[in-house]
Amino acid sequence: MQYVPAVPGPRRVCIVGAGPVGSLAAIYFAQRGWWVDLYEARPDMRRPATTTTATANPAQSQRSINLALSVRGLSALHQTGLGLDAEIMDLAIPMRGRMIHDLAGQQTSQVYSVFGYCINSVDRAGLNIKLLDSVEAFGNVRIHFNHALQTCDLDRREATFMNKSTGEHLTVQADLIVGADGSYSTCRRQLMRRTRMDYTQEYITHGYRELTIPPLENEDGSTDFRMNRNHLHIWPRHTFMMIALPNLDQSFTCTLFMPYEKFEEITTEAELVAFFETFFPDALPLMGRDRLCVDFFTNPRGSLMSVKCHPYHYEDKMVIIGDAAHSMVPFYGQGMNCGFEDVEVLFSILDQHDVVAKTTGDGDCDRDGDLAQALAEYTEVRHRDAVAICDLAMVNYIEMRSLVTSRRYLLRKTIEGYLHRWFPRWVVPLYTMVSFSRTPYHRAILQHDRQTRWLGYGWLAVTVMAVTGLACVMRRCKM
Ligand code: FAD
Repeated sequence: MQYVPAVPGPRRVCIVGAGPVGSLAAIYFAQRGWWVDLYEARPDMRRPATTTTATANPAQSQRSINLALSVRGLSALHQTGLGLDAEIMDLAIPMRGRMIHDLAGQQTSQVYSVFGYCINSVDRAGLNIKLLDSVEAFGNVRIHFNHALQTCDLDRREATFMNKSTGEHLTVQADLIVGADGSYSTCRRQLMRRTRMDYTQEYITHGYRELTIPPLENEDGSTDFRMNRNHLHIWPRHTFMMIALPNLDQSFTCTLFMPYEKFEEITTEAELVAFFETFFPDALPLMGRDRLCVDFFTNPRGSLMSVKCHPYHYEDKMVIIGDAAHSMVPFYGQGMNCGFEDVEVLFSILDQHDVVAKTTGDGDCDRDGDLAQALAEYTEVRHRDAVAICDLAMVNYIEMRSLVTSRRYLLRKTIEGYLHRWFPRWVVPLYTMVSFSRTPYHRAILQHDRQTRWLGYGWLAVTVMAVTGLACVMRRCKM
């Protein structure tokens, strides 16, 4: 067992998990002069995968191949001042609305914003690689791949990792341990042992599987998208749905969300094709039967869960961020955006508290208590927003798979759209607040509830006036 003690000099932060959130946090810490050690359980995703490193390839892991990046994520990238937001936007495909595919294959566009705001489809691996490259450019950062966190002794500020290549154990001491190790976080489990953590975890009864619509190959050898590239395509089927996001190689990654039993009912290729002919008749020829069968029967089936916990920190010794702190179902496209915003919020609080990257190395790195106070404030500020977006994400599944086809829902969206155009500061649709602004998530819900109430009153007033008017006209006619 190797032991790396803390030494006098810059504060040392040990970040667990080099996913998107951990990598971005590493950049923020490095920019403020901390000594950063970033530990990642998987091999370096930038190196070609060997048979033993196959899980390094995100396409083979149980995560989406692409994801929607919106304002909150872009803002946190922008705050680095490294132009990361612009670089990543160069690799993104803007999606200005939902394209609803009905059972007859008819497509209807529902734009996200009357002012033309878009969410952006980005390649998960490409984004992570960009962040890792930026992290590595700092002289005060070291990335340790193939190192999986095993346990922490938080009071001694120690974390023990297993080097997965050699099987050796390594214990490191750091002034602060940051857990960015995703939904099944080991850091969160360690935090639970030291704090009175409230914790809930909920698996939904639906799983997901990724499928592909390949590019269209023209006769002249050129290729094209098979559907409108600037939309997030949805096939809402009430109790289940399929969505598709565009990729730079002109393919679409489709995600089929369905109850587990429904997945299990489909056991043969004939059953699968019949299912698609019934529910996704326009998607079937775009995917091709052979490709569909290969994807459906070989791609892993992912499960979806929501995790809420409180607090996110322990004294000045540990804090958890991203999915490690709040895992949400993917139906608002906010998981990573929220994780990126965690980093921005955390550092705005650390900066306000003047937390500096200095330590005496005497094991008392937080003599003024600045870091402990800042982390406590972070938990309080961020928890209500994380809970709010976890709840919104859950509700949005019903909106996407069912409500988007309801007349009442569409009427409300239309009225809200007009009111937003006329009074952009007073009436703001919920989707706009969540995806195109940095309004704290919990405040977005409060404002939406207020708007719903006022729209209800307005609706009532219009109905009363209409009925009264009609009654007057009828009375006049009788006279
Ligand atoms: P992760 O991406 O899970 O990264 C955690 C890292 O920690 C991993 O690299 C892992 O290998 C490493 N790790 C784990 N355990 C250890 C350990 N013990 N030691 C060391 N390292 C460890 N979000 C959006 O914003 N928009 C979307 O459109 C979107 N779509 C999604 C679609 C699907 C189907 C799913 C499942 C999620 C989607 N999300 C989306 C959510 C998004 O994927 C997550 O919120 C995001 O990946 C969280 O980033 P993270 O860095 O916190 O965690």
